[in-house]
Amino acid sequence: MPKRVLVIVAHADDMEFMAGGAIAKMADLDYQIRELIATNNERGTLDPDWSREFTADARREEARAGAKVLGVNPDVEFLGYEDGRLSETPLNELRERCMRAIRRHRPDVLLTWDPHAPYEDHQDHRAVARAATEAAMFSHFPLYHPEHREAGFAPHYVGERYFFAKSPRDANKTVDITDYIGRKIDALCAHRCQMEMTVADLKLQLAASGLDIPFLADADPKDFRPVIEAQIKAWAASVGRRAGFEYGEQFRRVRFDGIERWARRAGSALPDDF
Ligand SMILES: [Zn+2]
Repeated sequence: MPKRVLVIVAHADDMEFMAGGAIAKMADLDYQIRELIATNNERGTLDPDWSREFTADARREEARAGAKVLGVNPDVEFLGYEDGRLSETPLNELRERCMRAIRRHRPDVLLTWDPHAPYEDHQDHRAVARAATEAAMFSHFPLYHPEHREAGFAPHYVGERYFFAKSPRDANKTVDITDYIGRKIDALCAHRCQMEMTVADLKLQLAASGLDIPFLADADPKDFRPVIEAQIKAWAASVGRRAGFEYGEQFRRVRFDGIERWARRAGSALPDDF
């Protein structure tokens, strides 16, 4: 059955990197998918000639383009917080913004960064993970931000949560994205200035390391696709291999707050797996 999905992330390309294949697969199942991006992405460049305003504008357009490739509603919502400083936003404020979005879009499924995964160095990822997760935990409690109801947004329960992480610790769900790896790469490549930056950054690392990797040394950041494709395919192949798929994406999934276990014990049919 088609579901409503809300993706809450910190930056314009988080969704594409971490869940682009799964999202494209959901879109093909007619899921209605919305994306909420907490920051303006205005520090996402290595080019000293780019202003923060110019970068934010470029990244906003790229977010819409990436969403469109995946089949996400291109009317992406931006909360407008400063890039790289999301952790300075009071948690209660960010949690309220996330809860309001959940009550407005009424998703069956939430995707966000995992607040419990280790080795997450980006303060924005940690901040949005915590706020979105806690918002989803209590969005069906009417006395949490009762002003939302007055604004027409009733309490809403989010049944399924998919958490992604760069170093997942408790992943329990691998999605087969073999048929969607091309769309994931296309969606990432719609983030032109971010992918140029990614390749330029890899080249900086290479130069600093003194290692000899001709493929990277010869790569032109303007012609980023071969590098992005190689990077994404290698990552998705290593994740997929462990689950018997050519390419995969990994999540920590929480469904129905544990009553899934009750259903198993009772012999009740479980909902369709994704
Ligand atoms: Zn990010």
